Amino acid sequence: MDLRIGVIGTGAIGKEHMERLYNKLAGCTVTAVSDVSEEAAKAAAARICAKAYTDSKSLISDPDVDAVVVTSPGFAHKEAVLQAVAAGKPVFCEKPLATTAADCKEIVDAEIASGKHLVQVGFMRRYDKGYRQIKKMIDSGEYGLPLMLHCAHRNPEVGTNYNTPMAVHDTAIHEIDCLHWLVDDQYVSAQVIIPRSTRHTHSELKDPQIMRLTTERGVEIDVEVFVNCKFGYDIQCEAVCEEGVIRMAEPSFPTVRKDAMRSVALETDWKQRFIDAYDVELQEWVNSAKKGEVNGPTAWDGYLAAVAADALVKAQTSGAVEKIQTGACPAFYQK
Ligand code: NAP
Repeated sequence: MDLRIGVIGTGAIGKEHMERLYNKLAGCTVTAVSDVSEEAAKAAAARICAKAYTDSKSLISDPDVDAVVVTSPGFAHKEAVLQAVAAGKPVFCEKPLATTAADCKEIVDAEIASGKHLVQVGFMRRYDKGYRQIKKMIDSGEYGLPLMLHCAHRNPEVGTNYNTPMAVHDTAIHEIDCLHWLVDDQYVSAQVIIPRSTRHTHSELKDPQIMRLTTERGVEIDVEVFVNCKFGYDIQCEAVCEEGVIRMAEPSFPTVRKDAMRSVALETDWKQRFIDAYDVELQEWVNSAKKGEVNGPTAWDGYLAAVAADALVKAQTSGAVEKIQTGACPAFYQK
């Protein structure tokens, strides 16, 4: 039987996930949508013959909704996720799990108290083929222990309202989740190095930045975040291990020979770069939710990302090495 899903928030990614769940993925359908705008909710619902709501609680308590996808803005996530946990329904929440570490911890505590694994966070990098290949190779042990990760997250440009902390919260947040998962370790400290800024930035945005994270077992990670790089959308990851260096495969484009040049196109749009990862992510979530399991990033991962992000934002202004203190992973989340 299909998993009947309610989608909360019908904006950009909400519409894309609805389309994916309704038309593309197997074993699921969308039976209800909600948005604070009645007009937006009705318009989205009409496209797929679903019910329309203007509040998350009514959608979650609908008996025709088995599971919930939260794609409202970050500030609205906590309320909807807690409502889903209280109703005992599986919930996939787009990142961030909540806007503060304290709010993420509240969700962790509520899920543990419910006694059921219900919450998954939308960190889709873990579902990208390139990262999965590196993880598999590291886990094989064939290359020895991972020692360092050199990474880059470059966007062609950002809007004028994008500021320095957003380089952590909106951009590096994906690396923050993915990289500790890649090396199966926890962060203990963070530092941000601010080089000379590009002339393509403005007074509220230091660009580029180098974010450094150190793990418990001493893996040193550097992530160059450069959001006005101009040339394309460029995600790099290189794992330096004891007996080899693993570099993530580039997206594949044809090599062109023209005008005495040999060239290969680069991605320019983050949505295209990770479009397959979104499909895999949601299909695996549907399959797990039907079995009453969570096999992707958990509420604890959402909390860890929030704590590490706070340390990086503090480090942007202090220039110091900031501690990342999360406490031990609760037994509930240990695999
Ligand atoms: P968006 O276009 O602004 O869409 C959010 C929608 O939710 C809007 O229609 C908004 O209505 C509505 N909304 C506001 N408050 C709500 C509430 N309390 N209940 C239900 N709906 C509410 O934002 P988006 O770009 O789709 O992003 C949504 C979330 O997905 C964000 O947390 C974002 O970080 C995340 N995201 C993740 C990725 C990824 O790569 N994993 C990519 C993109 C976005 P109004 O416009 O009227 O306020």
